[in-house]
Amino acid sequence: MMDEVQSILPLSSVKNKVFPAVNTILDIEEVIKKRNYFNPKSMKDIETIFNNNLDKNPDGYLVGESLACPKQVTTDNDIIDSLVNNKLLSEFHIPIKYLESDLRKIDSEIKPNISYFLGGEDEALNRLKRKVSELPNFVNEFRKPKTVSTNDETDPREPSTTGLSPYISNGCLSVRLLWNECKVANFNSTHTKPPESLIGQLMFREMFYLLSRTVKNWDDDQNNSNCKPIDWGEYDIDKISAWESGMTGFPYIDAMMRQLESTGWMHHLGRHAVSCFLTRGQLWQNWKIGRDIFDRKLVDADWALNNGNWLWLAGVAPFSMPYYRIYNPCPDSKSSLNVETVDADFIRHWIPELVSFPSKYIFEPQLAPLEIQKKSKCIIGEDYPNPIVNRKETRKENLIRFKESNANLKKSSIQ
Ligand SMILES: Cc1cc2nc3c(=O)[nH]c(=O)nc-3n(C[C@H](O)[C@H](O)[C@H](O)COP(=O)(O)OP(=O)(O)OC[C@H]3O[C@@H](n4cnc5c(N)ncnc54)[C@H](O)[C@@H]3O)c2cc1C
Repeated sequence: MMDEVQSILPLSSVKNKVFPAVNTILDIEEVIKKRNYFNPKSMKDIETIFNNNLDKNPDGYLVGESLACPKQVTTDNDIIDSLVNNKLLSEFHIPIKYLESDLRKIDSEIKPNISYFLGGEDEALNRLKRKVSELPNFVNEFRKPKTVSTNDETDPREPSTTGLSPYISNGCLSVRLLWNECKVANFNSTHTKPPESLIGQLMFREMFYLLSRTVKNWDDDQNNSNCKPIDWGEYDIDKISAWESGMTGFPYIDAMMRQLESTGWMHHLGRHAVSCFLTRGQLWQNWKIGRDIFDRKLVDADWALNNGNWLWLAGVAPFSMPYYRIYNPCPDSKSSLNVETVDADFIRHWIPELVSFPSKYIFEPQLAPLEIQKKSKCIIGEDYPNPIVNRKETRKENLIRFKESNANLKKSSIQ
């Protein structure tokens, strides 16, 4: 890629310098060229790849420093003109006046209550400081599967995890800087380890970058060696619209989807629940439909990670969770989705229709006696939808479908 750029640079006076692996810890191009490279399927595999490619000391892998800001930015008008007028490059040139008008438009569209994750490096560094550098115990005790999917108790928009993904995926925060800040917290302290630790999360990120580079048709369900082509159901516009707009009648799913619409973000376990619900759990729809909706709405949308995680959750990839582990979309306090169920403020915030509902019924409001619905000023079926499917029946049917689809695939691969 860099060779191509260099070959089309029009002037020999244009000096260029290549910074490999700016967006990842590993130099993906170099790693996949090595003879001992293999496609990772697990944290153990990705650790082997790290061991093969990075030096290590007792405190962990040496990932290098993040790049410093340029000390000086100079422009030479002759060079700029020759680049702008170059046949091959001109299509990538956006005149400053268009950028300015686009920025003005975005600026006027930003509504402080809605755009929770404000952009920019300052915001990124500020969040890094607040959530990581100043909280070594949070880093050292971080166990991803134990984090709460319904966000901070005091603010239903504030992640219980770092909330740094919008900044990493948009290039506002160096992944190396985050890694090294975690190492500072870990230094001389007992701390959690991959896959659960924060460093473990960054290693998953590397895994998906490697796979997205090497697996052909990474974003497809056909001819993709990391995806079983399961026989998903016909595109069902009613089910998909209900899912996308947070109107399925399952308050936990709907709250997550409304949060996504409003803030562009959702906790990892919320993403687990809504993707499982759309695919192998309840709605039996192709994972690519959900992937596209996420891609449009996520403020941290990232092609490698979004596809990798949808493959994981749909149960179709070599690294997937077992297809028969289906989340209950009406979680209780014991659910592995880690939901705050006592006050259920997360649900009340995102689904104002249910604001006065008793917590006892709020995750399955259609079960509340009519008297309670009336008292709570929310009649299910009128003010908030009835569930669009029977969760237990669809779970059962889809488990059978998945098993049969799997068996058919095995049969056809033997023939
Ligand atoms: C269906 C689905 C789609 C997803 N799509 C995206 C996406 O488009 N972009 C995206 O950044 N993440 C995606 N994720 C992964 C994960 O949910 C988010 O990275 C995480 O929730 C971001 O919150 P955080 O920054 O607080 O994460 P933290 O737990 O604080 O983790 C720190 C960083 O590690 C990385 N990370 C964490 N979890 C994962 C993971 N499972 N896979 C890869 N990297 C990870 C992210 O860069 C994250 O910012 C998806 C997950 C699912 C289940």
